Amino acid sequence: MYQCTHHPNCQVTTICIDSHQCNRKLCHICVYEHKSSKRPLPIELFQDRLTEKVNEYKLDDQQQQLTIKTILKSALSDIEERIRKLHQQVIDDINYTLDKIDQQDQQYIHLIYNNANPIESQNSDLDKLVDMLEGNTLSNWDAQKKSYQMKFTKALNWIVQEMNMYEQRFQVEMKNISSIDQ
Ligand SMILES: [Zn+2]
Ligand SMILES: [Zn+2]
Repeated sequence: MYQCTHHPNCQVTTICIDSHQCNRKLCHICVYEHKSSKRPLPIELFQDRLTEKVNEYKLDDQQQQLTIKTILKSALSDIEERIRKLHQQVIDDINYTLDKIDQQDQQYIHLIYNNANPIESQNSDLDKLVDMLEGNTLSNWDAQKKSYQMKFTKALNWIVQEMNMYEQRFQVEMKNISSIDQ
């Protein structure tokens, strides 16, 4: 029970919903005297209408929030998987080439150590050994290894650069996305 401030014997039963300034709490006499462009609402209806608004604007729709969160989570895990695969591809490529380099190094070493006594060596091996000693075999191989190393360094630098640019753009975009007006 809430007494009307203007009519102490009357209860407030109605709320003024006009856009003007007033004390809004009206008894049945106030309603009769009150000038407003909109009809005042009985207290019960006032609360009902607000509850309708909660539903209309989905203020209490946990399901929708949950759906958005699930979609977001799944999209992000797809992105993580794609980035992980790309990185794995780089690691695999580099490992493959490093293994090949190691194999070739070992082949040259074996050729030298397996022919410790050149007199017993086959002529084809001797040709190779002479070329290693006097020709360009090893210097060419060394140049090739250095060029692989430069390619790796270049590839890694490129990835770091791309990541830096991505990070910067990401931060700018996230600032726009995550700012919510209150
Ligand atoms: Zn009013
Ligand atoms: Zn009154």
